[in-house]
Amino acid sequence: MIRSTKVTQDNLLPSPAAHDLWTAEHRLFAPGIERTETGGWRLSEPVAGCRCVTRPEWPTAEAAAEHFRSEQHWAARHAIRTYDLSLYVTRIETAAGASFASRRRTWPRSQAVHHFSDFAWLWAVGISPEHAISVHEHLGLTEPLLAISYLQILGRRIDADWLAQFADGGIEAVQWVAGSHSVFDVEHPAARLEWYRGGVHWSNIPALLKGPYTLDDVRTLTARTGRSTTATAATLAQWIEVGCTPALADVETVWRLAPHARQVPPEPAIEAAFDAADPRRQLIERTDVGLILAVIGTVPETASVINRGVRSFEEYLQGGSE
Ligand SMILES: [Zn+2]
Repeated sequence: MIRSTKVTQDNLLPSPAAHDLWTAEHRLFAPGIERTETGGWRLSEPVAGCRCVTRPEWPTAEAAAEHFRSEQHWAARHAIRTYDLSLYVTRIETAAGASFASRRRTWPRSQAVHHFSDFAWLWAVGISPEHAISVHEHLGLTEPLLAISYLQILGRRIDADWLAQFADGGIEAVQWVAGSHSVFDVEHPAARLEWYRGGVHWSNIPALLKGPYTLDDVRTLTARTGRSTTATAATLAQWIEVGCTPALADVETVWRLAPHARQVPPEPAIEAAFDAADPRRQLIERTDVGLILAVIGTVPETASVINRGVRSFEEYLQGGSE
């Protein structure tokens, strides 16, 4: 029998794997790729049985995106043999007289990026310049976004209308949302926006989203202390970041007793106060140690308060000891 690559009804049945490979190759949809804790890159939706599960890290975004466009990946995704997908692709190429691969060498001039070479990088990580430009236009921005923001926005499927609500904060606000967007935002789309609209600086919002405080708490504390919304929100965010959640009244007390001091002690100082105190005397919560340290200001004095047997910030304020 003569071996032929002639196209027949049999070997050109619709193949979902080839379809997905082709759309990925032509950047019709963005790959979900994200940074790992160790500075590498991985696929956000790895496929069982594929390299993206067994060896799930690449040194660069380009390399991770290249895997996303590989026959191996899409064959695994559709539970077929890579060999069969490869054969199918060859048949299509033969029939079409053209390569399946997409080669792109020209880039549009656009205000969406700092330099047109950003588009070459975006293409390498699986993002079409046209999609990046339409995101930029939709947001109504006048300055270019960082190239990586487009990878984040499109790769994470961030809702463009939701994102546009942050655009009045300029590229900084949009880049922040794109870079820190998480499942939390999908489940609580109003939460981040509420803080943002409430006048809280965007850099404090991720911490506040993790903590117990509300925007009303910030307003209450702002009214009681006369401090700005920004400063009050920053203080509450810092408490959350050092692992403490003091009551609003206690935060206010620190402000009254030590208005010119740093309102929240650094985390290592809280640890040092515990380390310096007698372990048998440590009947006190971390938040109370943080509050006492915020008022006293030094680690040795805070440790000596713990050693006196003080068990709370309240007891300390009342001059409590054995
Ligand atoms: Zn894979």
